[in-house]
Amino acid sequence: MTLTFESLGLRQQLVQAVMELGYENPTPIQERAIPALLEGRDVLGQAQTGTGKTAAFALPLLERLDMSTRNVQGLILTPTRELALQVTEALYQYGKHMGTRVVAIYGGSSYARQLKRLEEGVHVVVGTPGRVIDLIEKRALRLNHVSYMVLDEADEMLKMGFIDDVTTILNQTPSERQTALFSATLSDPIREIARKYMHDPQVVAIEQKTLTVPQIEQRYYLVEENSKVAALTRLLEVEHVSSALIFTRTKIGASNLADTLLARQFPVEALHGDLSQEARETVMRRFRRGQITILVATDVAARGLDIQDMSHVVNFDVPYDAEDYVHRIGRTGRAGREGIAITMVTPRERRWLKTIEQFTRQPIKRGKLPTVDEVIAKRDQSFTEKLSGMLETEDFEREVNFLNSLIAVGYDQAEIAAAAIRVARSFETQRPIEDIQEPRERTYAERQAARTGDRRFGGERRYGREGERGGSREERGGERESFDGDRPRRRTGERESGMVRLMIDAGRVHGIQPGDVVGVIASEAGIPGRAIGAIDIQKNQTFVDVNEMHVERVLKRMRTGTMRGRQVTLRRADA
Ligand code: AMP
Repeated sequence: MTLTFESLGLRQQLVQAVMELGYENPTPIQERAIPALLEGRDVLGQAQTGTGKTAAFALPLLERLDMSTRNVQGLILTPTRELALQVTEALYQYGKHMGTRVVAIYGGSSYARQLKRLEEGVHVVVGTPGRVIDLIEKRALRLNHVSYMVLDEADEMLKMGFIDDVTTILNQTPSERQTALFSATLSDPIREIARKYMHDPQVVAIEQKTLTVPQIEQRYYLVEENSKVAALTRLLEVEHVSSALIFTRTKIGASNLADTLLARQFPVEALHGDLSQEARETVMRRFRRGQITILVATDVAARGLDIQDMSHVVNFDVPYDAEDYVHRIGRTGRAGREGIAITMVTPRERRWLKTIEQFTRQPIKRGKLPTVDEVIAKRDQSFTEKLSGMLETEDFEREVNFLNSLIAVGYDQAEIAAAAIRVARSFETQRPIEDIQEPRERTYAERQAARTGDRRFGGERRYGREGERGGSREERGGERESFDGDRPRRRTGERESGMVRLMIDAGRVHGIQPGDVVGVIASEAGIPGRAIGAIDIQKNQTFVDVNEMHVERVLKRMRTGTMRGRQVTLRRADA
């Protein structure tokens, strides 16, 4: 039977907080550590990052806090400042309905804010050993009421030479305190600390291979080919994506899609077979460090890659082989949480979906795309959460000085904040929320035409960037699909009726990508993405077709603009 957080004996405020974070059931380490810690036992846990270990020690700590005082009752030691901040943020999130006060204490930043928080009183201190000792010596931090102590990533602390500091701190806390020690390995020195400083600890070890319970939620979205990018962009904004692997059918499709998403400020990279081994490794390193969270790949490129436990697998193109589908979605399904597999399906690809469902004997549910309002609401919510998290945990001495200097020259405080918010959210202008065309069921005649490749009905078309080098049209899945719509194909240089060709004085050598052109024009001039037609990126200049209805507006608002950090000018191509 699957356990719930409630049945572990946590108070309602904590259960509510974890639910809000989307945790449905406890992970294996949580199932085993939380009851022992709630009973008051010491726990020696072998668990790595990603197993849910933070909640495993943080929830019992919060449960056991006496909220009627502001003494430091919980002390968590971490090896690094980054981990201290992460743990503080987690405590803040878990404890937000209890009004828990937490402070992060770490070296390399000013003492002022940390001292101020300590002086005002906090329930929990999260810190690196050096700075914690500093503050004990300064008599700013008293540990005589600490009843719950955690050593997080203890093996890392030992590796970094903090052993003496850690034992000094342990010796300063009351000996009847409860202690939890988490470490990726239970080496001899760790066991030695446990023997000296813990009372009959319960050992909770989580084998790496039992971490993931592959539960996969499978959804599909019915979209026209030309709305796939718009639909994917909305989903990436609204879903809780911590890591995603997006599959395309062709390698050019993978590069094009990655370029488009990059222009929309997503941390993405394409992986394809043509990359050198070194380049692949660099991409993978950046991915493991979290600098990239989205990878776009073909089945071939993804083969042999050690990437599992993605929060999302997206089939940007339906795989034509049901076995490929199974391999692809097997990359998701994380510890205790469902993995999500999303498939974009065009009306005429529905039959593939059926084949896949028959093969896997599992239904794939149809999903509803987020509306424009939902995307905007999600943006506001994420921004608010980020701000409040920072306000709780970070130090703003420099920024406050800067702010004061602006106030001193006469600016209004609220307006400065408003302008700063606009700057912080400026990436959103690179992410137009494009219209999505309603999927249209094809008639029998159209379906036949699609099979025989008759283009009059928009059959087996693939759109590519016009006038660009390399690759046949058929190879080019990717971003132009979303902007060419169902318009008939044109030859390079030929303009579709009703469109006016404009020229931008920057091109391939300046790194301009189709997504930049569409993103900047659509958002700066406030016109729909579909009013923008063919884009021809040449070496030093770019041509773009804009619907004649919108040309004056675009020219008025965008005689000059910025693309890829470069000032560009825009004018009629025939002027
Ligand atoms: P940790 O191992 O503590 O670094 O946690 C890894 C990730 O798992 C974090 O993003 C947590 O928010 C998330 N997480 C922790 N517990 C659960 C849970 N029970 N269900 C789903 N996600 C969780």
